[in-house]
Amino acid sequence: MNVVKRAIIPIFIPHLACPHRCVFCDQNTISGNTGCPSSMQIKETIERYLETIPEDRLIEIAFYGGSFTGIPIEQQESLLSVAQNYLRIGKVNNIRVSTRPDYIDETRLELLTNFGVNIIEIGVQSLDNSVLAQSGRGHSKEQSVDACKLIKELGFELGIQLMPGLPGSSDESDMETVLNAIDLRPDFCRVYPTLVIKGTFLHRMYNQGKYRPMSLEQGINRVKRVTAALYNKEIPVIRIGLHPSKQLEDALAGGPYHPAFGDLIKGRMFYDLLRMSIIELSGSARIINVNPLDIATAKGFKKTNIFRLQNEFNLKIKIISNEKISRDSIEISRNDGKTSRYDLLQLFRNQYN
Ligand code: SF4
Repeated sequence: MNVVKRAIIPIFIPHLACPHRCVFCDQNTISGNTGCPSSMQIKETIERYLETIPEDRLIEIAFYGGSFTGIPIEQQESLLSVAQNYLRIGKVNNIRVSTRPDYIDETRLELLTNFGVNIIEIGVQSLDNSVLAQSGRGHSKEQSVDACKLIKELGFELGIQLMPGLPGSSDESDMETVLNAIDLRPDFCRVYPTLVIKGTFLHRMYNQGKYRPMSLEQGINRVKRVTAALYNKEIPVIRIGLHPSKQLEDALAGGPYHPAFGDLIKGRMFYDLLRMSIIELSGSARIINVNPLDIATAKGFKKTNIFRLQNEFNLKIKIISNEKISRDSIEISRNDGKTSRYDLLQLFRNQYN
């Protein structure tokens, strides 16, 4: 689950070239930005970030928040040329753009290649045509599949975004989506559980009783399964849940939001691992060693993992920090004096293979 340390310089181009609004989307609220930045503003943003990024990072300029390959060619060229200058002088390593699946073809990709773009993120969201239609995406599953194949064929790094909990989705359809998405061989993935943002069409559907968002608990369980399936195939998940902000919290009307949603998911995975190990060891587990960097996650938010396990198995457990234990794994000191090791990958293999 370890990912190369990247530093991203985000340039937001909210809703630029979006053919319409997808029912759930309000990029101005999500990104906290309005309007397209000028070349001068982009330069200032890049310089500001470069001052604080540690030297050992892989630095990427990322154009987010719109449908990059749908904007007029002159504007794409103007935005990309600013980024390309930093690539040429070696101050950044990569340029990435995010866009829609139906705005991908060979001509558009050729332009990106000419300006040094090497990473493309596609808003796949779902690979269920009924869910896509009910979410107003305006493209099909087949277009996503073709777009991802072409991006890989032409040698770009492919990132995909998935949104569990969209209108018309279910546990089963979201799992089917992720399993089909894995076949597209993405290099990384972001998972955003669907939230209801005030003023969006989804908000209207919610008020009319036509859409019921996932509760926090449902969201944790569904996103945990989706994420675990990706980890099982060693596909890095570089973001889980929208970036928390006051603006987002003020605009939220419903859905599984938590400022540390990603930590909740990892904490729940550790809970499953601890539970599996306790069952396998017939409740003889007492002291559990984890890497110091995993200790808070293993204990769970407000130590919920410990309380839940103690209640369920009626035993006292102690989770302690131990530098010798590798990340994402646990070592259990058993009552018979021996130790047993388990790791998250092993858990996912049990669940998905
Ligand atoms: S989800 Fe993407 S394509 Fe849809 S409105 Fe938002 S930015 Fe545009």
